[in-house]
Amino acid sequence: MTGIMGIRLVKEERRSAILKQPAFGCLRDVPSINITRGCMHSCVYCYARGFTDAPPKGEVYLYRNLAERLERELERKRRIPLWVSFSTASDAFQDMDEVLKVTYACMRVLLERGIGISFLTKGRIPDDFIGLFRRFPDRVKARIGIVSLNEEYKRLFEPYSATPFLRLRNIRRLVEAGVDVSVRVDPVIPGVTDSDGSFEHLVKGLRASGVREISISAIIMRPSIMRLFDELPRSIAWRIIKLYQGQPYQRVITSARTRLLPKALRMDIYGRFKAIARRYGLDTRVCGCKNPDLPWEFCSPWVDGGGLIERQALLF
Ligand code: SF4
Repeated sequence: MTGIMGIRLVKEERRSAILKQPAFGCLRDVPSINITRGCMHSCVYCYARGFTDAPPKGEVYLYRNLAERLERELERKRRIPLWVSFSTASDAFQDMDEVLKVTYACMRVLLERGIGISFLTKGRIPDDFIGLFRRFPDRVKARIGIVSLNEEYKRLFEPYSATPFLRLRNIRRLVEAGVDVSVRVDPVIPGVTDSDGSFEHLVKGLRASGVREISISAIIMRPSIMRLFDELPRSIAWRIIKLYQGQPYQRVITSARTRLLPKALRMDIYGRFKAIARRYGLDTRVCGCKNPDLPWEFCSPWVDGGGLIERQALLF
């Protein structure tokens, strides 16, 4: 079925296990769920679009039986997880009714069984979710991805995600519902979203929305991401790619074919952002998983710096 903005939504049955252990840095010990294969947001820097089983741009596969299977899977488990993380390879809040319906049903199954959820989203969170989260505020860790309030940036780099205005609104409404909300300013795009003016505009918006914690990282470069950059105007794509030329390939998170932005440039970006955020009373941590050559800063949703994950690993 072709729907919103030419996105083709294909519904399929999920037959394999639902809860997966992601090999993803700080989320490694927390089981995860992806509601769809493929993601309508189509961000040009998305590492998941480079996975071998990722569908082409414009195609999204929805596992329509996910909530029922999840319920059965939990019933069979001897030990149930304390937390489950959504959205490691797709966004749980893509703006399609069928997707949101499955996301809601899965989140409800988990929350009503006393299992906490975390998610990272660039989508719009509808009212019924806010109502659900209000019932279980201590069991929800929300992270909103936003790197700029500039609409033109969004149009080019994150074409089918929610507008910056809607993401700030998400934050306000989650905070009002008593939910723990943090923000990921990731990926900062050098030469595009990293001016002092852009940072200050963003930080002001975040402060006014009630955010207190921010994590940040510059974009990492991989061959699959360089291919996606064909979707950008050529002059912008080359200006960014040029900065990574000559940088060594290294293992970062799941891929050994990753290039980091030169360290001096990243340190300058993070230093300037932190100074601006500090002026507005906001704490910023640099994502340790994506900056393995910098002093480690723990930026995952698990605020006690690993204790929660240790307990989780024992129980799951
Ligand atoms: S929202 Fe996340 S999963 Fe979806 S395309 Fe963007 S980066 Fe990829």
